[in-house]
Amino acid sequence: MAADVIDGKAFAAKVRGQVAEHVAALKEAHDLQPGLAVVLVGSDPASEVYVRSKGKMTVEVGMKSVEHRLEADTSEADLLAVIDQLNNDPTIHGILCQLPLPGHLDEDLVINSIDPAKDVDGFHISNVGLLGTGQKAMVPCTPLGCLMMLRDYHGSLSGMDAVVIGRSNIVGKPMANLLLGDSCTVTIAHSRTKDLAEVVGRADIVVAAVGRPEMVPGDWIKEGATVIDVGINRIERDGKKKLVGDVDYDSCAARAGAITPVPGGVGPMTIACLLANTLTAACRANNLPEPK
Ligand code: NDP
Repeated sequence: MAADVIDGKAFAAKVRGQVAEHVAALKEAHDLQPGLAVVLVGSDPASEVYVRSKGKMTVEVGMKSVEHRLEADTSEADLLAVIDQLNNDPTIHGILCQLPLPGHLDEDLVINSIDPAKDVDGFHISNVGLLGTGQKAMVPCTPLGCLMMLRDYHGSLSGMDAVVIGRSNIVGKPMANLLLGDSCTVTIAHSRTKDLAEVVGRADIVVAAVGRPEMVPGDWIKEGATVIDVGINRIERDGKKKLVGDVDYDSCAARAGAITPVPGGVGPMTIACLLANTLTAACRANNLPEPK
């Protein structure tokens, strides 16, 4: 039987709609407009696309959107000064510094200079620690989007075997923490994992966050498993440019119970979660009830 396709695009539109309603209510009742600032250093083409679409969607849900575009050779001190100014701006509730940064800038230092309460990417060491210890944190947007889709599809994830392929700080590790928080039995696989096929074959839930086009073939997937494909890989096939994920979609869809497509799966949910995090940050900053 063909897998259910988990429609991240439609789900993300629903989440953005809920955020927009909440933003309108905040304006009406409290004269409060959540604000998101995006800092982009340099002109990496993929980052430019993300920043543009983040700005557009921020405005669409009724939030204030601010962009700081800095030259590729901006000094660390100048970048930290911009972040400091945003940390102290009461109209800004979320700050995102688009990664990757040019090589001369220390990413950890820059991320940890963002006020943790405004760290809507959830990468600040305080938020990482809060998430790791099961406390109220700003949760990284991509894994949060994956979790929302899994909860929506399955209801409870309790007791399920989950395998996360990839151990990056921005996707793999927080994803594993979130699944653990929902009582999955979690395995994190990476480039040194022995017999990845066997490890993946045990999973009820497979989250692939590797960055290698179509690396996971269908015959690794347990019959009926749910496959969440985080990968965004730009390839050229038959002379055409194409976006593909980290799993081989057709063969995985033939065995899985449910699968996210690329594009139209995890990607749109990431931006929706960024907006949801900004709304949450604005509510917390003003001691107002947080959205569910
Ligand atoms: P990283 O490159 O930081 O991490 C990749 C991980 O995959 C590493 O842990 C690495 O292992 C592991 N890996 C590499 N090769 C293999 C292999 N052969 N077998 C098993 N594991 C392997 O990538 P990110 O986590 O930043 O991103 C992963 C993918 O997700 C990318 O395609 C990226 O574009 C996409 N992405 C999508 C987003 C979205 O919004 N949809 C947002 C963020 C990322 P090791 O640690 O041992 O090197």
